[in-house]
Amino acid sequence: METVINRQKAYYMNGSTRSLTFRLNQLKQLKEVVKEYEEPLLEALLLDLNKPKEEAFLTEFAPVYQEITHVLTHLSKWIQPKKVKTPITHKGSKSIVYYEPHGLCLIIAPWNYPFHLAIAPLIGAIAGGNCAIIKPSELTPHTSKVIAEMIRTYFDDEYVKVIEGDVEVSQALLEQRFDHIFFTGSTKVGKIVMKAAAEHVTPVTLELGGKSPAIVDRSAKLDLAAKRIAWGKFLNAGQTCVAPDYVLVHEEVLDSFLPLLKKHTQKLFSKRVRQKRYPKIVSERHLKRLVSFLEDGEIVVGGEVDAENDLLSPTILTNVAWDASIMQEEIFGPILPIFSYTSTEDCMEKVNRNPNPLALYVFSETKEFQELMTQHISFGGGCINDTIMHLATPHLPFGGKGESGIGAYHGYESFLTFTTKKSLLKQATNFDIPFRYKQGSVLLSLLRK
Ligand code: NAD
Repeated sequence: METVINRQKAYYMNGSTRSLTFRLNQLKQLKEVVKEYEEPLLEALLLDLNKPKEEAFLTEFAPVYQEITHVLTHLSKWIQPKKVKTPITHKGSKSIVYYEPHGLCLIIAPWNYPFHLAIAPLIGAIAGGNCAIIKPSELTPHTSKVIAEMIRTYFDDEYVKVIEGDVEVSQALLEQRFDHIFFTGSTKVGKIVMKAAAEHVTPVTLELGGKSPAIVDRSAKLDLAAKRIAWGKFLNAGQTCVAPDYVLVHEEVLDSFLPLLKKHTQKLFSKRVRQKRYPKIVSERHLKRLVSFLEDGEIVVGGEVDAENDLLSPTILTNVAWDASIMQEEIFGPILPIFSYTSTEDCMEKVNRNPNPLALYVFSETKEFQELMTQHISFGGGCINDTIMHLATPHLPFGGKGESGIGAYHGYESFLTFTTKKSLLKQATNFDIPFRYKQGSVLLSLLRK
């Protein structure tokens, strides 16, 4: 491991990763390689997660292609040093901000979107002019293997390398000195990563999880809200970091909303479940954890467990107590508890029991309600009248807040995340203003004005 890292550091130091041409060529190469590997990746995703083709196209490949194309279009502009103003006290000089690559970046990826979440940060790392090591999740070994082969075949080992393995490999990597660590995963492991990074004062980006609420106001278009919540929740069997974790519905519309949610859940997913074209729960441990949650409420729809195939059908739960075990951690599976609220204060108080969610979804036709909720609740990102879609645009920074993460990426934000701002003052030498040497009082009176 140390040898690999030292070789990457030496490669970075030779400077070739910095030029715009190099970065653009590598990104173009990456796009071609992904196209070439679509089939083996689809097969691997099927084996690892039973992820059907159409879902994989939408959630694994489309965001990656979109991100590469966006970066290819804008990188030549982003990379330019930025001239900024110079105050009168620095007369004669110029001030410039350079965007310097970090150097060697470590990318640790989770299993839920094992391709997308390993490659999207890599796009940022390349755009920033870095070398990178990727550690995919051991829970999706087939996808991890194909990613490793794809990178090994088309990228110089000293530039981008995949190191496969489990928690021990991850821990061994974290003992090494990197220039940036980009971690996507649970809050629990995020804390471990941050501690390890502190040892070398390495900056981190932490893309973590949390309990993301969907709020349905009495003014909401209930049918559409139900459809979009069902889609966002049950996609990938609920194993999505920004999936609505639970729903809070105004008590006046709860009885109208529930049958609509049931209808759309069945319409969108029942056939896929019957045909076994529905993503499986990643491991036996996760399935057991989820099945235990089924006892926390009354099942409105779903609740079928196929332990042999690690399948759990999309499930809606009502009559769940706030202190039930399902409300103590991120659900991360196809179970959606529904609660009601009586007033905006009651709604906010309930959301704030799990502070700083990764996402917040507000369904309402009332501007005041939309603003009240989105401005007074603290969260990473979210949507008004939709779920998940804020993640699928390169124009919005994507990240968490507090326990749901540190930093953000996607599009320009990825470029900023994978670079450091280096400030430079270019001073004139054809004259020398005497203020600073002796007339501090003159300078002060100037600044006090
Ligand atoms: P995880 O934290 O268990 O694992 C993520 C990665 O960390 C894996 O590569 C794993 O090998 C490694 N790892 C696990 N334990 C480790 C340890 N003790 N020391 C060092 N490395 C370790 O997360 P997961 O189960 O793969 O993913 C699910 C979690 O990720 C959920 O909480 C979800 O919300 C979150 N997530 C967040 C985002 C986001 O963009 N914010 C995206 C996807 C998933």
